[in-house]
Amino acid sequence: MKKQNWPLWLLAVAIPLVAGLPLPDFWIVQLNYIGLYALVCLGLVLLTGVGGLTSFGQAAFVGIGAYTTAWFTLNMGLSPWLTLWIGLLITAASALVIGAITLRMSGHYLPLATIAWGLSLYYLMGNLQVLGKYDGLQGLKSLSLGSIDIGQGRLFFVLTWAILLACAIALLNLLDSRPGRAIRSLKGGSQMAEAMGINTFRYKVTIFLIASLLACTGGWLLAHFQLTVNPSAFGLKMGIEYLFMAVVGGVGHVWGAIVGAGLIKLLDDYLQTALPALIGTSGSYEVIVFGIAMVLVLKYMPDGLWSMVAQRWPRAPRAMDWQNAADLPARSKPSRGESVLAVHKVRKQFGGLVAVNDISFDIAAGQIVGLIGPNGAGKSTTFNLVTGVLSKTSGQVRFRGQDISDLSSRLIARQGMARTFQHVKMIADMTVLENVALGAYTRSHSGVMASMLRINRSEEQSLMKEAQHQLERIGMGEYLHELASNLAMGPQRLMEIARALCCDPALLLLDEPAAGLRHKEKQALIQVLRQLQSEGMSILLVEHDMDLVMEVCGHLVVMEFGTLLTQGTPAEIQASPAVRAAYLGTEH
Ligand code: ADP
Ligand code: MG
Repeated sequence: MKKQNWPLWLLAVAIPLVAGLPLPDFWIVQLNYIGLYALVCLGLVLLTGVGGLTSFGQAAFVGIGAYTTAWFTLNMGLSPWLTLWIGLLITAASALVIGAITLRMSGHYLPLATIAWGLSLYYLMGNLQVLGKYDGLQGLKSLSLGSIDIGQGRLFFVLTWAILLACAIALLNLLDSRPGRAIRSLKGGSQMAEAMGINTFRYKVTIFLIASLLACTGGWLLAHFQLTVNPSAFGLKMGIEYLFMAVVGGVGHVWGAIVGAGLIKLLDDYLQTALPALIGTSGSYEVIVFGIAMVLVLKYMPDGLWSMVAQRWPRAPRAMDWQNAADLPARSKPSRGESVLAVHKVRKQFGGLVAVNDISFDIAAGQIVGLIGPNGAGKSTTFNLVTGVLSKTSGQVRFRGQDISDLSSRLIARQGMARTFQHVKMIADMTVLENVALGAYTRSHSGVMASMLRINRSEEQSLMKEAQHQLERIGMGEYLHELASNLAMGPQRLMEIARALCCDPALLLLDEPAAGLRHKEKQALIQVLRQLQSEGMSILLVEHDMDLVMEVCGHLVVMEFGTLLTQGTPAEIQASPAVRAAYLGTEH
């Protein structure tokens, strides 16, 4: 168990302790509220803090959980342990529908859609005769296990906090896993993740689903705690309050959910009595205070309270327990000389600008081909057309004989084409090792459930072993546990190469790998490229450093203003007057 998981042990000890202590009932009630609010916030930590997707509508999912159990236990006499599952099913169905509609669009549609969803569900609950309109449903029974009545006191406390603890552990396990690293890559933009073969849309839907299920469970608990449900607890105001709890606590931290829920619940109670006394009239003034506080927190403490705690206990380096792990499955490789890439008359227009003008070239297995040309010649665009990051205006690309012209970057990556980016794309708050492991995503398959239950360990070890191997191969062995954001530009680029190598590619595309590298690092890079070539790797290299290009490339493709100027061996290119003219900017 890692060092930063001490809150987990603290909770595991505190829960039975609190239940056994002679605390006043008032505090048990408070803790029960905090526990079930924190459950909802836990979902927001995953969705908003980690995934970067904002939802104001979590209270609506709480409402589904509460109303479902209320209605089915009151009208059908069903057991609450059964109605929980019915609620989860209804929640999952609605979350999938909302997610499918909104998550494909850009980020802003989700918050808007969740506001609309929160409002409409609120009015639906308030206007449906069968749900008791704005009076809601009364007379629910408390939960019981066999003949034991769980009630609203200490046993309820133990149940709620045990569920909370179990969910927190499941989430921590998830975040530290193959799907978890994919989820953590969502916030930084999906381009890199897709280029690693990750289906970002599927993961967005997944975290939206998990968050809604946690909210629903919170609602189920709330219904059997208050023994009555009415729409006011599930409206937009409460939706905003849940988000506020998560933000104050530290929206990226699992334990922040509990801190935030606790603080806001206590503050809410205090302000509700203190403010009217202070001002002299009654009213919901606490809403105003919360609004101001939210702005201040976002401005001065955007990472929330828990981040201050987390800083004091920095993460211990990952225990390197994978030395005996099995190797990840390897891809079949083309034999030397076989065609790996055939680019045929590929074209890209941005409005009136022809960035790539009917370019054609080929790469055979074992070849290192350099794509060179002055700035703005269209090299990166060509790269993005080959890797599927940009869609082609026309033309065809074949990879190992297969037409990949219309495939997305994710599907192309799955075929074994790996790349780096001209502007490094990494997950800043993950270690170098974790960033690099992302590259082996397509060679592994543990899912969300397996990761939550931690039955993914042997594959995790294989992933880490592969990541370490690729980092050492490229001379980055001493940076394994460093946060990616702490690296200088050169090592960041090398990290991207290691990440691409983790994909076990048949073709490697490097966009300006030597930019920002120091002399020693550049020499190391040349060694790595040579070694890769001797192992039969095919590489397409965009690079400004002519010494490096001339040294490692067997074939050069020269572009200028989007068109192919010429191609040939380094010697031929060096002797070409047209190329000299293009680089020196003189007429030819
Ligand atoms: P290089 O990598 O060779 O320096 P690029 O491929 O980045 O060149 O750019 C080629 C041309 O296409 C440039 O004129 C650039 O301004 C233009 N360009 C690149 N990306 C876009 C884009 N997304 N929208 C419009 N123009 C673009
Ligand atoms: Mg470029």
